[in-house]
Amino acid sequence: MPPILHADADSFFASVVLRSHPALRSAPVAVVVHGFVASSNYPARARDVMGGMRVTDALRRCPELAMFDVPQGEVEETADALFDLFAASAAAVEPGSMEEAFVDVGAADDRAAVRAAAELRRLAWQELRIPVSVGVGRTKLMAKLASRAAKPDGLHVIDAETERGLRSTLPVAKVWGVGRQTLERLEGLGVRRLADLDVVLPERLLDACGTMMTRRLLGIRDGSDDATVRPVSGRTVLSSEGAIAGYARRDWTVDELVETCIRRVCKRAMRAGLAATGLTIVLRGETAELATVQAMGKAVVLATVKAVVPTPTPADDPSLWMRLARAELAALSEQAVADAGSVKASLTGLRPLAGIPPTLF
Ligand SMILES: [Mg+2]
Repeated sequence: MPPILHADADSFFASVVLRSHPALRSAPVAVVVHGFVASSNYPARARDVMGGMRVTDALRRCPELAMFDVPQGEVEETADALFDLFAASAAAVEPGSMEEAFVDVGAADDRAAVRAAAELRRLAWQELRIPVSVGVGRTKLMAKLASRAAKPDGLHVIDAETERGLRSTLPVAKVWGVGRQTLERLEGLGVRRLADLDVVLPERLLDACGTMMTRRLLGIRDGSDDATVRPVSGRTVLSSEGAIAGYARRDWTVDELVETCIRRVCKRAMRAGLAATGLTIVLRGETAELATVQAMGKAVVLATVKAVVPTPTPADDPSLWMRLARAELAALSEQAVADAGSVKASLTGLRPLAGIPPTLF
């Protein structure tokens, strides 16, 4: 099986902030949202400042921690640029999140994969000033384990021999997707490592983990786990979000933010070769009153508007989608627009452009 890459930006939000504060690179830095740490750089992690932690706890552990708000617009622009870079160097890219992806570079062997991985890392740093760790492995799990081992700012290969060893010695806790409940049940059966699966009766495994997880775990044990990088062109919805409040910029109006989000999401749809049949805009509230009931970015939905077009339409003209959005937004109450703190724009009903008869447009 040819190797694939798992590319994962290091402490992404913090890395985006550090682009404009290079002097802080070796100092502990955290990006915070609603009183929680969203992302901390490696110097901060060395001081036990971790994502998901309350800011008050983080400051107790590290009083000199430098803190920044999430620069949402810059985060999305950088993530887009990162995926442009992935797309330019690969036959297929399957996003895991906004800043990590499985990348199939068409490498025939480990040496070719390492060359491609090193080049990807070099470009991400040179063009975007974002450290990206890359793992090389023959399946998604192996590539992901490799990128985890590569962090921070590194490149790691799990070769065929290491892989054979891992398929028996890997703790099941390290298999991504295995939750706490499954872990406890496996422990109850005496399963801590993949090799322990061999001595458990299949029906007991099914009882404990269910069909899907049992199949997955046994697949990993015997080496038939998922190794296919599926490109984003299979997606039916693509979204972009942003905040009204400015970070190193003036506050945006709802109209400006909707337009920015639509431009970003159109760009992604075009890159993936997708046409859309609908547009959804969600306005969320971020008022001080609402802030007390929200945690980690969960805000109250003020309004949702939807527009549809009669035939699948390519996203090469964002102004068309913006006209549709404006028509729908005009019908909202002034209060809903005034209270909006963030916007999410989604293109919906996506399907491959290639599958649509050209006469339709
Ligand atoms: Mg990451």
